[in-house]
Amino acid sequence: MSSSRFNAVNNLGKTTAPVKFETASRITGIFNENVFTLKTARHYLSDDAYKSLLASTRGGKKIDRMMGNQIANGLRAWAESKGVTHFTHWFQPLTGSSAEKHDSFFTLKGDGTPIEEFEGTALIQQEPDASSFPNGGLRATFEARGYTAWDPSSPAFIMEIGQGKTLCIPTIFVSYTGESLDTKTPLIKALVALDKAAVDVCQYFDKNVSKVTATLGWEQEYFVVDAGLANARPDLVLTGRTVFGHAPAKGQQLEDHYFGAIPERVYAFMRDFEQESYKLGIPLRTRHNEVAPAQFECAPIFEEANLAVDHNTLLMDVMSRVAKRHNLKVLLHEKPFAGINGSGKHNNWSLSTDTGVNLLAPGKTPKTNLMFLTFFVNIIKAVHDYADLLRASIASAGNDHRLGANEAPPAIISIFIGKYLTDVLDQVEKRVGGNFDETDEAILKLDIHKSIPELLLDNTDRNRTSPFAFTGTKFEFRAVGSAANCANAMTTINGIMAETLKKFKLEVDGIIEKGEKKEVAIMQVIKKYIAESKPSLFEGDGYSEEWEKEAEKRGLANVKTTPTALDAYVTKKAKALFEENDIYNHLELEARHEIMLEDYIKKVQIEARVMGDLASTHILPAAIKYQNILLQNVNALKDAGLPESLYANQKDIIVKISEYINTISDNVEKMIQARKKANDLSDTRAKAIAYCDDVKGNYFDVIRYNVDKLELMVDDSLWVLPKYRELLFLR
Ligand code: ADP
Ligand code: MG
Repeated sequence: MSSSRFNAVNNLGKTTAPVKFETASRITGIFNENVFTLKTARHYLSDDAYKSLLASTRGGKKIDRMMGNQIANGLRAWAESKGVTHFTHWFQPLTGSSAEKHDSFFTLKGDGTPIEEFEGTALIQQEPDASSFPNGGLRATFEARGYTAWDPSSPAFIMEIGQGKTLCIPTIFVSYTGESLDTKTPLIKALVALDKAAVDVCQYFDKNVSKVTATLGWEQEYFVVDAGLANARPDLVLTGRTVFGHAPAKGQQLEDHYFGAIPERVYAFMRDFEQESYKLGIPLRTRHNEVAPAQFECAPIFEEANLAVDHNTLLMDVMSRVAKRHNLKVLLHEKPFAGINGSGKHNNWSLSTDTGVNLLAPGKTPKTNLMFLTFFVNIIKAVHDYADLLRASIASAGNDHRLGANEAPPAIISIFIGKYLTDVLDQVEKRVGGNFDETDEAILKLDIHKSIPELLLDNTDRNRTSPFAFTGTKFEFRAVGSAANCANAMTTINGIMAETLKKFKLEVDGIIEKGEKKEVAIMQVIKKYIAESKPSLFEGDGYSEEWEKEAEKRGLANVKTTPTALDAYVTKKAKALFEENDIYNHLELEARHEIMLEDYIKKVQIEARVMGDLASTHILPAAIKYQNILLQNVNALKDAGLPESLYANQKDIIVKISEYINTISDNVEKMIQARKKANDLSDTRAKAIAYCDDVKGNYFDVIRYNVDKLELMVDDSLWVLPKYRELLFLR
């Protein structure tokens, strides 16, 4: 084990040649190859079955038993034509990744005849023996079983793993009594609520709108390191981040990585996972280096939110698997390396109508301007009113390293809209008394769409510090963590938007009933919302200390850690919001709160253990060995009769090493005691806070600081953990 670092470094020369793989000459030739698209369905299904599938895909209509059988048969025929023998329900439990349980089409008839079959019931519903998925007490209270149910709005696909191919059916995952145990169920519910509320408001402007969908385009940041080196770091293997490691002589200060060429080996890996993604229908569009060394990003063309979330979950899985082929390891953790940038997953979000209008794209006429302003101001109001929920939706142990640490973006939820739109809102707000009359259309005649170029300019240079930024035709929620499932953030954004739009309509209707003109009523409510949400609008540098102070004056929350951020899920306000919009009931919220706290506890607990183990079994032995070498040297020099001044430096180093060793072992011991104390707490929230404030807060930094000091002193050949310079720069 002690040589795995050097083996990995030596092996690098042998393994860095890019892996060869088949490449398609055109993306269109392989796109959706492994997806049961409606077009494919048309070939494999009878007219009736196809119509039934279409209706359930588009309008959420239920599929009956007979049609279910027909669709399942068609799916099997298609899958078998591609060499598939097994199928699985594919779902996203609250563990943060995807889950599968494979079953084969193979079965025996009553008389023992072997056949392949896939029945409608198996397509539509399964009962995974899944008592080991997190359930926050939900299933324990009722029934030990949960079931998965087909989500026809996300198409079935074939996952290729090595030689094996599996038909995957996207499903929701709920308890026997119907409570959601996954991320997809509440997301779909939030999208339904949003659709209804947004369509209602759209009626003020266009009676033809009958459906509004939320769109999502995520940007996925990640690190790529050599697998050999990564495997020689137990902390990377077990926690996804390095708990120790001194900054390399060269970090990101040269800023030469961002615009640099993509390293060849990583480039081969990217092309390989892109191909796999295209086959699965993930419409990847861009790839580039990110700011930190060894950090990269990819982003797709945006899609309907539910599908986009599935595609992101799939992509993370595909990336991790394809990386192995290239002897690389993908790090999706929010903060794999201290001292250089962490990774996020920007969620670009907008709303579009079935009449083809992007509701967050400024219009060119007074009428479209008013529609834009309505949706624009409503989301600002929603973010202002429910900032705590947005903060909670992105809270995780990993993301705590970004939010609230001195890094992008801050834990204070504010909104950036650019100078031009700030002016527009100011003008609306300043109208005396809010009396908009019929002739007063000055604001609506503004060329609001001209703000787009200005916003795009902002976007590329200075507003990177805002957690929620308007970027011309969509909002960009930048605080989402790189390892997160986007569903949590999307459920919250769409949920709070649904609620805000509902209230907006009630207020506007109230004014209209009093005899006011529709446009005037709308403008009056918009004006009121602007005034109420103003504290959340911020155009300056979100990382600055001044903003922290200013935000506090404005009454904005700045919750830096997960255990307290999660409180927002169980407030009266949150319960009312989610229950009224049929997204989560009280029970589900309590359960989720519990699950997320437990997840936090486990993550910090594992990190603490890894830190203790590594310190005791990797770091201290190396330091002691080196200390002994120095001691022998000092003694030998002394015996040889040399004056003490000639070995004073060695003695100094010995003293320092001894001090570091002592501080480390003292604090590791104290950390273990803190863990024991935390483990004794029965209240989950109290336990999470103890892990956060005591175990992590009091010991992680001091242990790390001393270990990293030792790294700088101890003979390099004795240091067994691959160093940052190797992880970040050797490929
Ligand atoms: P950047 O943010 O770097 O300027 P783009 O504006 O091209 O780049 O888009 C970044 C991401 O935003 C992409 O994933 C893209 O698909 C997504 N996006 C663009 N328009 C929308 C929209 N209307 N709804 C949701 N996502 C969108
Ligand atoms: Mg962007």
